[in-house]
Amino acid sequence: MKRTRISEVSRGIVHTYLTFDSPLLRGYELPCVEITGERPGLRLCVTAGVHVNEVSAIEAAVRLQGSFSPSALRGSVSIIPVVNQPALYEHTEYMCPIDGKNINFSFPGRPDGTFTEALCHALLYEWAVDADLFVDLHGGDLREEVSKFVMFQRTGDADLDAVREEMARCFDANFVVGLEPEHLGGPGRAITARARMGRHGVMPEAGQHGVVDSDSVAYHVQGVLRLAWLYDMIEGPLPSPARRPTVCDRYLWARCPVDGFLRTSVHSGEQVTRGQRIGVMHDVFGIVIGEIVAPDTGYVLWRMTHPVMRAGDSAFGIGCPVQGQ
Ligand SMILES: [Zn+2]
Repeated sequence: MKRTRISEVSRGIVHTYLTFDSPLLRGYELPCVEITGERPGLRLCVTAGVHVNEVSAIEAAVRLQGSFSPSALRGSVSIIPVVNQPALYEHTEYMCPIDGKNINFSFPGRPDGTFTEALCHALLYEWAVDADLFVDLHGGDLREEVSKFVMFQRTGDADLDAVREEMARCFDANFVVGLEPEHLGGPGRAITARARMGRHGVMPEAGQHGVVDSDSVAYHVQGVLRLAWLYDMIEGPLPSPARRPTVCDRYLWARCPVDGFLRTSVHSGEQVTRGQRIGVMHDVFGIVIGEIVAPDTGYVLWRMTHPVMRAGDSAFGIGCPVQGQ
């Protein structure tokens, strides 16, 4: 990895463009901000714009650049506000236009795979390889209504999982979701790949419909700052989160059974019960052609709001609370 076109905007704050060694990434420059504290401490890496329409997350990554003062910072903060640069001005949902892959589910990647796989590998093993803390900001794509929730990856190691849950609790979320250890087996989110490396990371979500809303921006910004404070990178104290999150240990997706139009009156944040009909599919004649039922009892973490859906498209994300909570 090299840093090109470096400009020091003020002492300890550098705007730079990252380039990577993989031939698949030749010519690809990734804007990045490096903030170096005057005292030693941990390294925090923050990404946004893996999904480019999740603009409250991107706005938060922009605001965070002005939220750390080198004179008051212990350690360093590196921020990539838009990971999926090829998608940015295309407003592409989910995918990287170069190879049609979803960066979010391609970690840890590989240096000799496709563009997306090479990018994931470079982010993980070059840019963030020395990161003690990693935060990937998301939420609210063009057709999504997303509640405030934070994911972390469970591994089965109770001590490490407790640390990651504590990191997730820095965000003022309604739900904290510990992803099932089964995710560790295949390509997946950056936080999952980090957990496989024995490292930490969290993935907060908030927002809707490709709109910058101040509430979601503040949720992301305050959560990252609280995390930095928790790990002694900045002075505090910072106010505790106002919400008491429901902790979930399973994350289920409910998919559309057929092509058609989805009708639903269920919103993100609502509780649903196993087997409850949460959506109905109809055709252009208004004839009901299928239904979506809740796969288990839990809470709607997000839902798709555009009615036109393909068979197999995920329509709802459901978090199932830890038993006995
Ligand atoms: Zn996303």
